Amino acid sequence: MLKISNLHARIEDKEILRGINLEVKPGEVHAIMGPNGSGKSTLASVLAGREDYEVTEGSVDFMNKDLLDLAPEERAAEGIFLAFQYPVEIPGVTTINFLKTAINQVRKYKGEEPMNAATFLKLMKEKAKLVKIDDQLLRRSLNEGFSGGEKKRNEIFQMAMMEPVLGILDETDSGLDIDALRIVADGVNQLKNKDRSFVVITHYQRLLDYIVPDYVHVLYKGRIVKSGTKDLALELEEKGYDWITESIDANE
Ligand code: ADP
Ligand code: MG
Ligand code: MG
Repeated sequence: MLKISNLHARIEDKEILRGINLEVKPGEVHAIMGPNGSGKSTLASVLAGREDYEVTEGSVDFMNKDLLDLAPEERAAEGIFLAFQYPVEIPGVTTINFLKTAINQVRKYKGEEPMNAATFLKLMKEKAKLVKIDDQLLRRSLNEGFSGGEKKRNEIFQMAMMEPVLGILDETDSGLDIDALRIVADGVNQLKNKDRSFVVITHYQRLLDYIVPDYVHVLYKGRIVKSGTKDLALELEEKGYDWITESIDANE
């Protein structure tokens, strides 16, 4: 599904990703962990196609297409959903209208007619129930005045509506309380299936108490320096990152 090979990316003059290799198969959940400043958010941004970053080397294959060749909207239409660390507020635009536009953009890209109102409403009801979001929230301006937990639930709802092939979640390094972690985890657990994969970027071992990943990777200084199963997350919880990063620092 997703194959990242030797990916290098820089911002301004600084090389931040320095040779990332990662393969995600259908239905898998991969957790990416690592100390602050390792390049986790940069990786998510590069996959989503944000323009501040320049890819200098390597390739990303997604569903047999060259992802790096596609515009951000095209990536979304191909089935990539990126939940941002800091969700945008859009005053005057409700979640419902925002999603109508997003869904119809994807349909247009695929050469399909816009979704009719009844179908949209039915889909919305079904997904709202799935991720346990209150109807009222969907009628308010997107993210405006939402609590942290409400933003998270809204983000998961958006993901449910877009029915992506690959969900990428970048969690903040601070400010996510246990309720918000649970909302994210429950959402991922509800939405994952044999064809839908997730890359969950987190600073928190705690999140992985609720989402059981198939693989855990440690990102450090722009490279994946260790990979394992969920047991690696437990080991990191116990021992921190030093036992991995010290030998890397020593060899530089
Ligand atoms: P993480 O998500 O693992 O904490 P980031 O990807 O946010 O790491 O950052 C990796 C490195 O890139 C850090 O050293 C950070 O300071 C730098 N960086 C990120 N964004 C920018 C930017 N817009 N301009 C300059 N440096 C940046
Ligand atoms: Mg950070
Ligand atoms: Mg980050």
